This record gives sequence, C-alpha cells and structure tokens, in this order.
Amino acid sequence: MSVVGYLLGKANIKIKVAEEAVMEESKFPLYSFLRLKDSNEIHIFPAVVVEGETLFPCKEDVWSLCQKANYADAESFERQTLHFRGEEITVEKFRCLDADLARFYAALLQSNGYEVCGTCVSCLYKTVK
Ligand SMILES: [Zn+2]
Repeated sequence: MSVVGYLLGKANIKIKVAEEAVMEESKFPLYSFLRLKDSNEIHIFPAVVVEGETLFPCKEDVWSLCQKANYADAESFERQTLHFRGEEITVEKFRCLDADLARFYAALLQSNGYEVCGTCVSCLYKTVK
C-alpha cells in the first residue's frame, strides 16, 4: 500500500469512528457546516444531536461561530468529493462534527477551493493566553 493510501485509510477510519461517536451522544460541543444561500460562503454553526437527529439549538435565532451568518440565510451542505493528498475522498455530511473533525473538514474544504469563513474556523481553536 502506498503512503498516501495508508494515510487516507487512517483518515477514513478516523472520520467513521468520530461520526459514530458523535451520533451516539452529544456530550461535547458539536458543529455543522452550512453554506450561505446568496454567497456560497461556508460558516460553522453550533449543533446538537438528540435521538440520532441533528438539531440546531434555539432554531429561530442561531448564529454562526463568527456571529455574522444567521441560520435562516443558510442551507445544508452535503456529499462532496474532495481531494486529499492526491486521492479522492467523498464526505457524506458536514454536520454534527466534534471540534477535531470540524477542523479537518475546514482544512479539507479550504484546500479544495471552497470559501470557509476564517473567523468561524479560528473559533475551533483555543487562544493561548
Ligand atoms: Zn463565519
């Protein structure tokens, strides 16, 4: 197996494990990627899983992590074929991810030419004081 194949296998296993763990219970902060309908800009929103279903907290007035995009102006963003280290990787959904997976997907989308809000992404990282 090539080095790329090995790394891709590891990444796929990590994604599968993380998605399953996340869908079981949401004990920690979860995130979803949504795309603004008018600009196609991708922002990251807080999300929760209740009984296997993705929900956005307080549906009426949910803002992205950067506080600049409203849930009402956004649409969900699923099934994309992206390139990772020269290989194709198909991501089924961009919702209810833990912070690790959200950081990975943000980097993957950005390196594939998608516009992902940098302020939202920076909220996934802790600031060192
Ligand atoms: Zn944003």
